[in-house]
Amino acid sequence: MILSFRPILLELRHPFRLATGSRTHTNAMLTEIHFEGLVGYGEAAMPPYYGENHDTAAAFLKRAALVFLQLPESLELSGSSIQTILSQIDSLAPGNHAAKASIDIALHDLWGKMEGRPLWQLLGVEPDKMPPTSFTLGIDEPEVLRQKMLEAADFQIIKIKLGSENDRQIIRSIREMSDKPIYADANQGWKSREEALELVHWLAEQNVRIIEQPFLKDDLASAAWLSARSPLPIIADESFQRLADLGRVANCFHGVNIKLMKCTGIFEGFLVAKAARAKGLQLMVGCMTETSCGISAAALLAPLCDYADIDGCWLIRNNPFELPVLENGKIRLGESVGLGLTSCL
Ligand code: MG
Repeated sequence: MILSFRPILLELRHPFRLATGSRTHTNAMLTEIHFEGLVGYGEAAMPPYYGENHDTAAAFLKRAALVFLQLPESLELSGSSIQTILSQIDSLAPGNHAAKASIDIALHDLWGKMEGRPLWQLLGVEPDKMPPTSFTLGIDEPEVLRQKMLEAADFQIIKIKLGSENDRQIIRSIREMSDKPIYADANQGWKSREEALELVHWLAEQNVRIIEQPFLKDDLASAAWLSARSPLPIIADESFQRLADLGRVANCFHGVNIKLMKCTGIFEGFLVAKAARAKGLQLMVGCMTETSCGISAAALLAPLCDYADIDGCWLIRNNPFELPVLENGKIRLGESVGLGLTSCL
C-alpha cells in the first residue's frame, strides 16, 4: 500500500467569524492510499486552534507512509486489520489528530472499494436513522445573514455561532427571517455563569435546541454549573477531543460533539459514540470546514447521534469532490462503494 498526500487551502464562501476571531481559509491535507489499482481518499482539515498545519501534517504523514510501505503485500483490509494499522499509526507520535484521521478515512474508503460495497453497509450503519444536519451561519451583519439564509434553504436546522456581546441581536435577526430550529455554539465565548444561564433560558424560548461549548475549554466547573441548571442540553466541543477525554467531561456536560478531526477518525469515532452512550451522554457529530471526503466520513457516525452538524463541504468554494446528496436536509448514504466520493477533477 502506498500513502500519498497533498496540501490544499480550502477557501471559505464567507469569512468565518467566531467569538475567537475570523478566517477565510482552512488548511487541509488530502491523502490517498493506493492498492492494486484502487484509491482510498482521506482528508485532514486543520483549523488553526488545534495546532496542526501543512508542515506538521506533512511531517507526520511522511512517517506514516513508511509504515504503509512495510505492510505485507498480501494484506486484506478488514475491521480488525484496519484497527491494527491505526494503532501503529497512532503510536508514531502524540497529537496529529487530523493527520491521523486522514489515514483512518482513506483506509476505510479503500476497504469499501476492495469489498465493492458502501462503507455504511460494512460498518452496520442504519441510514434510516440519519438525523438532519444543521447549516452554519457565521456571525455577520443582518444583510449578509439574509444572503446566507438563502444558502441554507435546503437545510432544516440553522447553526449559529454566538459568544459575542450581541448574541440576542443575532438571534433576533435570524428570527426575523426564519423560524427553523437553531443549534447555538458559543465557542467558549461566554464569561459569566449567571448571564449565560439567563441567556440560555431566553434562547430556549427562541426555539434554540442545544448549546455548544459555553465557556473556556478548561473551565469544566462552569460547564457543570450551567449543565445542572440549563433547560437546554449543553454539549462539549473544544473541551472534548478523544475517547480518553470522555471520563473528564462526562459529568460536566449533557453530551459531546464528536469530530473525526479531533478523535483521529471513523474507528475511534464509533468507539466514542458507544462509550458516550454507555455514560448516558447525548451525541452530536460535527465537522470543520472540510471537503465532501471528511463530511461523507462523518455522515457514517450521524445515525448514531442525536444531532448532526456536518455541513463543512457546503461552506467552501473549492471542494475537489462532488457534494453529498441531501434529502430533506439529511445526507443520503447511497449505494456507491466506499465513502461514495466522486472527484470533480
Ligand atoms: Mg463547536
